[in-house]
Amino acid sequence: MEKKIAVIRGDGIGPEIVAEAIKVLDAVAARYGHTFTYDEVDMGGVAIDKWGEPLPAAMLDKCLAADSVLLGAVGGPKWDGLPGAQRPEKGLLALRAGMGLYSNLRPAKLWPQLADASPLKPSIVAKGIDFIVVRELTGGVYFGQHKTETVDGQQVATDVMPYSEAEIERIGRIAFETARKRRHKVTSVDKANVLDTSRLWRSVMHRLAAEYPDVEYADMLVDNTAMQIVKDPSQFDVVVTENMFGDILSDEASMITGSIGMIPSSSLGEGTRGLYEPIHGSAPDIAGQNKANPIGTILSAAMMLKYSFGMEEEYAAIEAAVHAVLDAGKRTGDSMAAGCTQVTCSEMGDAIVAAL
Ligand code: NAD
Repeated sequence: MEKKIAVIRGDGIGPEIVAEAIKVLDAVAARYGHTFTYDEVDMGGVAIDKWGEPLPAAMLDKCLAADSVLLGAVGGPKWDGLPGAQRPEKGLLALRAGMGLYSNLRPAKLWPQLADASPLKPSIVAKGIDFIVVRELTGGVYFGQHKTETVDGQQVATDVMPYSEAEIERIGRIAFETARKRRHKVTSVDKANVLDTSRLWRSVMHRLAAEYPDVEYADMLVDNTAMQIVKDPSQFDVVVTENMFGDILSDEASMITGSIGMIPSSSLGEGTRGLYEPIHGSAPDIAGQNKANPIGTILSAAMMLKYSFGMEEEYAAIEAAVHAVLDAGKRTGDSMAAGCTQVTCSEMGDAIVAAL
């Protein structure tokens, strides 16, 4: 296959971790006979410095012209004093909107080699943690009407939480299709005992579940889900939910794995083009020191291969290579443990390429 990948190295550790992901992509291309070309995109602080804005239109156009987009991270103290609209993070919001990305997929996977980093009890961790949160990204209360008014002499604030059937159906399809590429199980999370949006959500999900008889389906209330994620996370495969519930549950889910540098994510809209990035930020405290853990970015590139390009075998090969390197005791500083060997960011990338 030939694929054009827009590459946003960004700020802080972004350029270091993206360089390692590209090493791995090139190794995959060589081994499987693919051609990946890279189009460099300026976004975030680096774009503010160079072009005066966090995502110039020409840069968004490059992303729209690519088959998919790989991002390191943006932001840093240098740009913290800028007004809201000019901040690096605005580039990310503009990119998501410009690419029409309405779903965010975040795997919560515990690498057995890093089990000690989980804040959960060993007896829970031993059952395994490997699920993915599919969060609706452009609807619900974050995008509804917000107002604060004075009623009878006191302030009253209102946030409206709208959802249409079409918005629910398209995220639901992403969840069911994702489950078909995993362990064929969807848990749909809502608050149907209280909210109208949740009752509509549930009815649309039930309609979809009938179309995917090969996928096991369950409803779960959001309060119960928050408890189950810490009590027995092994029960989950794909968890699908609306924007605000997903915001909260996906952070809870990534915490239980204990290693921020290891977690990839993807955002998808219509079609196969997506945005793939690690969940962490630009880590200004370790930027430029070749210390960062590149695995979250490498696994984001792996997700791109699987979810945007349909390259299942290549995805599995990268995952297996990460396993092999962790088994060999190689760790970057953030996940260093007794008996392991500390490596730099670039040595970690090299080791994963060697294992491939
Ligand atoms: P952060 O995730 O950058 O860092 C939190 C801590 O985790 C730091 O101690 C950092 O050194 C460590 N860390 C993060 N990634 C690591 C990695 N790959 N390897 C080793 N250690 C790692 O969060 P923050 O400090 O709150 O934010 C720093 C900047 O990043 C801010 O400007 C913030 O706005 C931005 N940010 C960007 C994104 C994004 O680009 N998607 C996401 C979150 C934060």
